[in-house]
Amino acid sequence: MTLPDKLFIDGTWRKSATSRTTKLVNPATEEVFAEVEAADISDVNMAVESAHRAWEGGWRDMTPGKRTEILFNVARTLREHIDELGQLEMLQIGKPISDARDEAGLGARCFEYYAGAVTKFYGQTVPVSRGGFDFTLRQSMGVVAAIVPWNFPFPIAAWKVAPALAAGNCVVLKPASLSPLTALKLGELAHAAGLPSGVLQVLPGSGGAIGDALVTHPLVRKVSFTGSTEIGRRIMELASRDIKRVSLELGGKSPNIVFADADWERAAETSPMSVFANTGQDCCARSRVFVERSIFERFVEKFVSATKKLVVGDPAKTDTQLGPMVSASQRGSVEDFLADARKRGSKFICGGVRPHPKGYYLEPTVLLDVGKEDRCWKEEIFGPVVAITPFDDEAQMLREVNSSPYGLSGSIWTNNLSRAIRVSRAVQSGVLSVNCHSSLHVEAPFGGFKQSGLGRDLGMAAMEGYTEVKNVYVAE
Ligand code: NAD
Ligand code: MN
Repeated sequence: MTLPDKLFIDGTWRKSATSRTTKLVNPATEEVFAEVEAADISDVNMAVESAHRAWEGGWRDMTPGKRTEILFNVARTLREHIDELGQLEMLQIGKPISDARDEAGLGARCFEYYAGAVTKFYGQTVPVSRGGFDFTLRQSMGVVAAIVPWNFPFPIAAWKVAPALAAGNCVVLKPASLSPLTALKLGELAHAAGLPSGVLQVLPGSGGAIGDALVTHPLVRKVSFTGSTEIGRRIMELASRDIKRVSLELGGKSPNIVFADADWERAAETSPMSVFANTGQDCCARSRVFVERSIFERFVEKFVSATKKLVVGDPAKTDTQLGPMVSASQRGSVEDFLADARKRGSKFICGGVRPHPKGYYLEPTVLLDVGKEDRCWKEEIFGPVVAITPFDDEAQMLREVNSSPYGLSGSIWTNNLSRAIRVSRAVQSGVLSVNCHSSLHVEAPFGGFKQSGLGRDLGMAAMEGYTEVKNVYVAE
């Protein structure tokens, strides 16, 4: 397998304008395994201009049928490369290989969904009061900048690129500096599958170096960002100058609410993976667990025994559930949270230590007695750490749930239908699951309330977000 190591611009590999490179470290071995060129501001300009030419030169006006055909070809090609995409993802971020393959499949599924959506994406006819004929068009915007994080590099890239292209835009994709390989592969495979040159460009490199240039480029009409709330805020500020469209998928501190009337044993057995999957590096991680007091102790016992059964280790093994964290600094930042929890007197029920001498591993950690003002309760940890707390009163618990500035995801466990509906309405989050822990469906809108984001990925909502609505009135 040859690893991509350059920029993908205008349908071909290009050297960076600088001699800067990023060394990629395998998080499981701590060894450098690749070096990828890092884009510079002049590369940003070249990529955006080439994307704009591709948009004006044909992609914008291509018939829906043809666009569908090309996007289906992309999906098929991605499916043929699931093993390779999975390997690359595993190498660059330490994701367990079974998850990495599943996520490659999810990326392909996005292209299938949006390939089909092209011909089912309607405007409206509007019965305006003065008569005549009024209709709306959904038109593409032009160049979209898609900026994505390192925790789900391939699927998040796919779920931005596919709807943006389906809606008729061209895309400049900027992967996180830790995870350029699957994004570059996406550019290469999509082009091989028939996507015209320039329609999708991929710029590896650091956000600090090229982020501002990309976001403020006058030909970029929309910035679709997934990452931290801090960088999201900065992007929104920069975009405000030219009133650029932005969509932001940001951090979370999601609740997992377990009522005594639920199948709480199943909740306890499945909840560890709702926070520890991807070694806790998941924006939807259910990192605050609220358990009704009458079942609290039994729940914690089961939760901990399920946690201890999780297989932590070599991401190349198919039965591994938790790989290493992505980097030494990400693990360090989680260990700072743990040090704070120790200082504040939280109870460590399990985990909190490094299980292997090599690799950025960290044992999944269960905390009790975390104070409501403590960092571990309030901030997104982005690592394998959960805080479990008892509650007595539904209304009071909901106030605590909603006191977070975040509002991305969450789970509700109850067998009482009215309560399920009432609590679903009350929790201020964009994506909830009842009696399970799934946040994500390609077909359904995904995104956050409050400081967890703005706009929606996935489903037809994403497609709408990559278009402008035009109203046309024809006199009779
Ligand atoms: P990050 O904000 O550090 O980086 C995200 C991307 O932004 C990267 O590609 C980075 O290079 C780029 N970037 C950095 N500085 C930039 C700048 N000044 N201008 C433009 N781009 C810049 O996030 P991360 O560390 O890669 O990912 C972790 C964060 O992402 C967590 O907070 C997590 O909750 C969030 N996340 C959210 C979702 C969601 O859908 N809501 C999904 C996954 C991750
Ligand atoms: Mn970061």
